[in-house]
Order: sequence, then C-alpha cells, then structure tokens
Amino acid sequence: MPSWPIHEKWGLKLNIPINVLREVNRIIDTIIHDLGRKLIVNSVRVLVVDIIVSVKRGLDLMIQYLKESSICSMNFDDCLRAAALHHLLDVLELHVRGYGWHVASNKSSRELLDESYRYLMKRIREQYIKLPVRVKIQCKAKEYKEYPPRVKDFISKLNDVKNALATYSDEVVHDVIEHVKHKGGPAIGEKFVLELLRLLRQCNIIIHGDIEVNGKVVPLALAVKRIFSCIKNYGEVKIKIQSSTGIIKLKANSIIELIREIINLLEQFLINES
Ligand SMILES: [Zn+2]
Repeated sequence: MPSWPIHEKWGLKLNIPINVLREVNRIIDTIIHDLGRKLIVNSVRVLVVDIIVSVKRGLDLMIQYLKESSICSMNFDDCLRAAALHHLLDVLELHVRGYGWHVASNKSSRELLDESYRYLMKRIREQYIKLPVRVKIQCKAKEYKEYPPRVKDFISKLNDVKNALATYSDEVVHDVIEHVKHKGGPAIGEKFVLELLRLLRQCNIIIHGDIEVNGKVVPLALAVKRIFSCIKNYGEVKIKIQSSTGIIKLKANSIIELIREIINLLEQFLINES
C-alpha cells in the first residue's frame, strides 16, 4: 500500500480530519490486511481438496469495525470517505506496480484512476452480487440482487472520493509513482518468473499446481515470492518440480540464472514436441 503519509496528504485535501484518517488506516491495514476488498474465506485441506468452511464479506466486516470505533462513530461519513480513499489509493498502487512505474508514468493519470476505480468496484461486486462459483456451491452463500444500503453508502462515498481525486489525478498518480519508485521491488521480475512457471504448467512440465522451493511446497503464486526472498537472503534457490516424467531439480544463484534454467526446460519441451 502507499505509505500512510500519502493517504493522509490526500485525506486532508478531502477535508477528512487526521485522527479519522489514522484510525481508518489502522483498521483497514492491521486487523486483517486490506480489509474490505475481498471475501474472507476459511478453508481446510482434506487430502488434496480445499473445502470452504466459512465465508465472510470483508466489506461488511470493515463497516462493522468502523462502526464500533469511537473515533469513527462521531463522524461516520468521513470514516467511509477515508476508507474509500484508502482502498482507491491502494489499488492505484497495485496498478502502478502491475504496469511497472516507468510504463505507468507514460499512461494517462485519469485512465489509471478510472481503471483502479473499476477494479475496486469489481472486488465489491464479487462480494455481494456475483460470488465466486466455489463459494456459492460449497457455502450456499446468497448473492444479493442489489447492494444492501450500507454498501450503497460506501459506494456513493467512493464515487465522491474518486471524483474529487480526479481533479488532481496528475498529482495523485505522481505521488504513488514516486512511492513505488523508492520502494522499488522486483514487481516486473516476479511477474515474469510467474509467467514462466505458468508456461511450465501449461506444457505439463509442472503437473501439480505446487512446486517445492527450498524445502517447502507452495502454490505457484506464492512460490515466486519465496524464490525472490531465498535468493535475496541465501543467495541461492533450490526448486523441485513434479513433472510428468519424474522430479526435476533446479538450482540457481540469481533470478537471471533461474530464468535461463526455466527457458532451457521449455526449449527441451518444444524440441520434443516438434
Ligand atoms: Zn492498505
């Protein structure tokens, strides 16, 4: 997420009191991280199947925590606006990271803001109007025909905040890009390695969704994080892949080396195919 000072700068610009901003940021980021943007699904693994045991709507929980807070109860409208701002800025950062900051800098700031808003609305929709199929089947959770009043309130505040930020979109996007630039991070590298791992799976070189990274079996999306942290912390990563022809072991001392190893595997696959 963008640092709290960015949240606070823009919150103050929208005339939200500082104590409200801090309280709302605390609730959203520290109780359950980014509370409000997704369903909270608890599942247990039985043999190789994940069975969902409970589903909670993150946005409902967020609203409930805001209502319980004494700071928020004094000015609930401001709280909802602060929460909308928090999520919109977080998602804007996700988009900037997704594109890479240098690509994002060349995009229209209004378009980036609109994209973030649409993404956020989709995350809300998935909690009420269009639940994921797994959740519907396993939990018999009900979908709403239209948003319940508490959610309508939040969405109306989200629209206000988005329109207010749109006036300053260049400056808002600039702040987020500067933040991403300084925080750095291997976002593009992670995406690239993840795509390569997905290709391995498509080619049936990875037959399960999981791979072993330095002794721990993890799903692909998490594997990438672990690969980067192993190389950063130990200067080495060891990967074991359950392929259709047996176990494949990879060892690399850098991301570039790992990428070459994976491309080698794909190359062999293509040679065998043709
Ligand atoms: Zn956040």
